[in-house]
Amino acid sequence: MQPASTRPRLFGTNGVRGVYGQELTHELVIDLCYSLGTYFGKGPIVVGNDGRKSSPALSKLVRSSLNSAGLDVGYAGLVPTPCLQYAAKKLGYNGGIMITASHNPPHYNGLKPTASDGVEISREDELTVEDIYYSRTFSRIDGNGNDYLDEKVVSSYIDAAIALVDSDNIRSKSFTVVMDTGNGAQAAVAPMLAQKLGCKVIVVNGHIDGDFPGRGSEPTPDNLGLLSDTVTSSGADFGAAYDGDGDRSMFCDNTGVIHWGDKTGALLVRHLLAEKHKGAQVVCPVNTTMMLSKVAEQAGSEVIHTKVGSVEVSREMVRRKALLGLEENGGFMYGALNQVRDGAMATALILDMLAASGSSFSELVSSLPKMYQFKTKFVCKSRQDIDNAVKACIEHGSPKKVDTLDGAKVWIDEETWVMVRPSGTEPLIRMYAESTDKSLLDSKVEEYRRLVQSKIA
Ligand code: MG
Repeated sequence: MQPASTRPRLFGTNGVRGVYGQELTHELVIDLCYSLGTYFGKGPIVVGNDGRKSSPALSKLVRSSLNSAGLDVGYAGLVPTPCLQYAAKKLGYNGGIMITASHNPPHYNGLKPTASDGVEISREDELTVEDIYYSRTFSRIDGNGNDYLDEKVVSSYIDAAIALVDSDNIRSKSFTVVMDTGNGAQAAVAPMLAQKLGCKVIVVNGHIDGDFPGRGSEPTPDNLGLLSDTVTSSGADFGAAYDGDGDRSMFCDNTGVIHWGDKTGALLVRHLLAEKHKGAQVVCPVNTTMMLSKVAEQAGSEVIHTKVGSVEVSREMVRRKALLGLEENGGFMYGALNQVRDGAMATALILDMLAASGSSFSELVSSLPKMYQFKTKFVCKSRQDIDNAVKACIEHGSPKKVDTLDGAKVWIDEETWVMVRPSGTEPLIRMYAESTDKSLLDSKVEEYRRLVQSKIA
């Protein structure tokens, strides 16, 4: 067998993904399912899929491959990823496989395995699955597995999410919510969840279509104009937008302003620490905003930093039994339900927060600590250039401290930092910076930008 360091990786940052029929071939999927069947050891396994054009065929292939390895499969149908993950944890399964390429373009697809604890398998276990795949040491359980439809997946998920919020208080407010489900899988769950909480729900881009004709599969402030306009024209309390498989969410306040996940995440953390989970730890990647640290500090809570990546955050939450986690790109994780990113749960928590506070969404946002932020990326020719640039940033000047958990986070002073890190998926260096002082931020960004460019030119 090839040593792990020289063979191609199957897993990227979130499962195995590729262009369907080219990188993600049927042969690869069958062998990957045999590898996952061997890794899981026994069934039943819950399988679900997003709304991509290739997802029905892939779902049949995944289920029949697992069946032929002897594992029983419960089929959840078309569901958001967090709903499938909840089923893997709570409905008696020994694991799950979600067929999705999340927010990637329509011609992509992928497989995202979930362990029986409801969270993506760990980085170490991904390597174990790759060991099995490359060595072809597939095990087989005697007999053929059964394939059956599991019709409880969506209803049990919605009931569990509703049980975690103050539903009577939310219902008493009769909120109006606009949802841009982006032609993605959350159309099957999030509007129903909000309706059950007594909301008037206006859905845009609500029909599921694997070509994502509405605004593409990834919500960003630039492509949510329709959401913003619909919120203001309808006088809604807020808007929510989801990515293709519904784990990430972006929110729009009552005035039509779209906010990144770091702001809305900090609001939710502040609300949950005050109302439900006093003193709880908060887990997030090391590039997360200081807004969150300040909110946690004010509530007497500790922030735990991880490497960048949702699996790192989720797995750290599991290790610590932590209840709160987030990513700035709109991945909010509420461990009381499951320690994974979840767009519909985040929406229910926003409703809980608005009902409890009595303030509007925009008033809540304006009460957060003020920060100035900067983000960019540099295209690099080689891995060596990337390493040289990160090393130069670590050695440059005389900063207050340098954190090397993931790339280099250089603290200029207590409230100013610049971070550079290699992208996990592309030949890029990403740079992030934040400060309470705008002119210091600008000058430090310029200084480190010049330094990085001098190493990659
Ligand atoms: Mg996603």
